[in-house]
Amino acid sequence: MEKQIQKQVERRRTFGIISHPDAGKTTLTEKLLLFGGAIQMAGTVKARKAARHATSDWMAMEQQRGISVTSSVMKFNYEDFEINLLDTPGHQDFSEDTYRVLTAVDSALMVIDSAKGVEKQTRKLMEVCRLRDTPIITFINKMDREGMDPFDVLADIEETLNIECAPLSWPVGMGKEFKGVYSLHDKRLHLFSATHNGGINQGMVIDSLDDPTLDKELGLQADKLREDLELLEGAGYPFDAERYLAGKQTPVFFGSAINNFGVHELLDSFVQLAPHPQSRPAVEREVSPFETSFSGVCFKIQANMDPQHRDRIAFVRINSGKFTKGMKVRHHRIGKDVQISKATIFMAQDREGVEEAWPGDIIGIHNHGTIKIGDTFTEKEPLKFTGIPNFAPEIFRRVILKTPLKAKQLQKGLTQLAEEGAVQLFRPTQNNDYILGAVGMLQFDVIQSRLQDEYGVDAIYEPVELYTARWISCEDKIELARFKKGAARYLALDADENLTYLAPSRWRLDDAVETWPNISFHKTREHE
Ligand code: GDP
Repeated sequence: MEKQIQKQVERRRTFGIISHPDAGKTTLTEKLLLFGGAIQMAGTVKARKAARHATSDWMAMEQQRGISVTSSVMKFNYEDFEINLLDTPGHQDFSEDTYRVLTAVDSALMVIDSAKGVEKQTRKLMEVCRLRDTPIITFINKMDREGMDPFDVLADIEETLNIECAPLSWPVGMGKEFKGVYSLHDKRLHLFSATHNGGINQGMVIDSLDDPTLDKELGLQADKLREDLELLEGAGYPFDAERYLAGKQTPVFFGSAINNFGVHELLDSFVQLAPHPQSRPAVEREVSPFETSFSGVCFKIQANMDPQHRDRIAFVRINSGKFTKGMKVRHHRIGKDVQISKATIFMAQDREGVEEAWPGDIIGIHNHGTIKIGDTFTEKEPLKFTGIPNFAPEIFRRVILKTPLKAKQLQKGLTQLAEEGAVQLFRPTQNNDYILGAVGMLQFDVIQSRLQDEYGVDAIYEPVELYTARWISCEDKIELARFKKGAARYLALDADENLTYLAPSRWRLDDAVETWPNISFHKTREHE
């Protein structure tokens, strides 16, 4: 068993993509799946199926917008590796889930548009990666377009994201003059030829910088390449695996996802460099993936699969041991044993046939709201995994009830929906408002439709002037009491009754932090 676990852990890679909309995440994902040979988009496939039978407004909304509120786990094999790509929803369905998915991966791939450099959403997602120093590999995309000078892109990444760049490939030209990518690892040049047909693009390879073919093919650009490489040797960071694994350095690749150029090299290096499933912290101790006893943690709840049955799927990442279908595991928060035979396990090419899963894999467990984000499952040992937090919301709305008699249902609905983690509920301590906080706009529409469909509550929103929320903690009870009095008008309780500071402006938050040096203002909150 130990040998088997070791083998299965070492061949697994579980990662997510961080990027700003339009940088090329979807295109790159498709190409990666193409190399994997098998495409499996569990969540998406399932969501589409459910949508066909959908009657509720909420599902209609999902169809109408042509996006998936749900997101997915894509699993593919490459060489002897088993790769789990966890989707990080972007565009309109950007939400707290996008952040939380990143706490369930072992590494990330950052996609940057070569014309735009580092953009806002990438910066935000990078902050989440920083929470656990997640190793990041960078792909500079769209080299077939006019973009920034590659040295400037690297400088932008280093300055904006405060991470060293270690280029492992280097581009020759860009836009119309884009001639190919030189691999600093193999010391070879791959010449570019555009393909839009989805095929795998190999192109011609030149093995040495001294090969006269290089000058013949590239002309003056050959000298430029030699100069660039000399400059890099002097000024760039050499690749350092330890610094990469510590999240301090990012290896950088250049290419064009749509032309499938540079993607093969990226994937080859990814499987070699990226870490296999790692140890995970629990309140009690660190849990190694090589332990033979099963453990897993829920990092995401998805509720829209079949609105008529109101069932939910809990996405559980396996952190140690082997999972077998039908296995009995302990659900620690409620202290009950559950048999997972009834669960849909969506995690491999042939979903029906899956009998076992290993650390780094994701299983989906059907339930009726009994599982919450952060819940831990093990064979026996009582454990509570940490590191799957709530994130401070960035946009807020006040909920107004249209039929005052339904206040109870509203409270119940909002509390339950908040438990799923897509939105957060705050009750100010000085009034009876219901304040919703989210990370993406779409969540508000989803909540409104679901309140109506599932709880029969007609609610509308009012804008509310809030900048952000911070969870409060303080060891000193007297100081905390003083703070509660002094800052009362800004305080609220979240759905789990935790004290929260709702800051109307950035200035007000900075001022409060300065005024109350012994009070801690937290950007994230662990689930109990
Ligand atoms: P996402 O929003 O990050 O998922 O981005 P998409 O993969 O949907 O790509 C956004 C747009 O950029 C689409 O129109 C793609 O066809 C285009 N695109 C993606 N990769 C490349 C590339 O390498 N070169 C060029 N010229 N366009 C690309």
